[in-house]
Amino acid sequence: MNRDSKIFVAGHRGLVGSALVRRLLAEGAENVVTRDRVELDLTDAKAVDEFFESVRPEYVFVAAAKVGGILANATYPADFLRENLAIELAVVGAAHRYGVEKLLFLGSSCIYPKFAPQPMKEEHLLTGELEPTNEPYAVAKIAGIKLCQAYREQYGANFISAMPTNLYGPGDNFDLATSHVLPALIRKFHEAKEREDPSVTVWGSGKPRREFLHVDDLADACVYLMRNYSSGEVVNVGVGRDVAISELAELVREVVGYQGLISYDPAKPDGTPRKLLDVGRLHKLGWKARTPLREGIEKTYAWFREASLTRAGA
Ligand code: GDP
Repeated sequence: MNRDSKIFVAGHRGLVGSALVRRLLAEGAENVVTRDRVELDLTDAKAVDEFFESVRPEYVFVAAAKVGGILANATYPADFLRENLAIELAVVGAAHRYGVEKLLFLGSSCIYPKFAPQPMKEEHLLTGELEPTNEPYAVAKIAGIKLCQAYREQYGANFISAMPTNLYGPGDNFDLATSHVLPALIRKFHEAKEREDPSVTVWGSGKPRREFLHVDDLADACVYLMRNYSSGEVVNVGVGRDVAISELAELVREVVGYQGLISYDPAKPDGTPRKLLDVGRLHKLGWKARTPLREGIEKTYAWFREASLTRAGA
């Protein structure tokens, strides 16, 4: 992948896609191609084929997906399964048909079994039952990985897959009904501070443990893998450390500067008890995450405040 390579970032409006575009432009990429939802519906295989036929990208990052937090997954299982499968079939298939040099598919750490040994290694894939709260999404992502591996096996396509842990950063979804925990907590503590609420409610028991990777680190890892990795085996991308949701809540409370109390709502689901990736493979390949969690939350909170001001002024 060179400066003038034609690089298609599918899903460039999302958290991951926008970070990838920022990362590529920062290193001087001159030919980054993007299409928004109105210009190209990525679930429409015919439209995607026509796009690949006319544009002929050389490198493809598949950052497009229907994503959401624990509640959104449980509420819209059919949408999560159907849309993700449709995007994968359309994009990965077209990439093969139109001779893409290399493609990187983004999965998720929820592809691993609910009770996989921790930290989770790449070989734990398909060794046990999935976490029910995100099973449709996980099944779709596993299908995407298998599709990439199958094209490699049958046709020699250079398609690789990266499995990021829980992500956060600028451009995240802060809608409390559909977001993941980290942006939700930023928003909850921020608004509670503004309103001078006596307490903030965190879902579940606070005991589940999760690992959080800043999306700019993920984008850096994806570009690194695009340049330095060519195997069908998936690669975990994480920081190799996790925190309890209660610790995360405390950290976000401090960063936001909220003085009130934290309470827990046991009626909301905890989801999988622990999700920590083994990042040994990635470290051996020569890449490590750089952003410490507190610094990442500070940066994301700054972005959130900026974005709220823009919204209020609009
Ligand atoms: P998961 O990693 O797929 O389970 O997705 P989430 O990021 O949505 O949730 C992670 C954990 O954070 C779960 O145990 C949630 O119950 C917990 N959590 C605590 N407060 C919140 C909240 O306000 N929003 C979300 N989405 N999760 C929360």
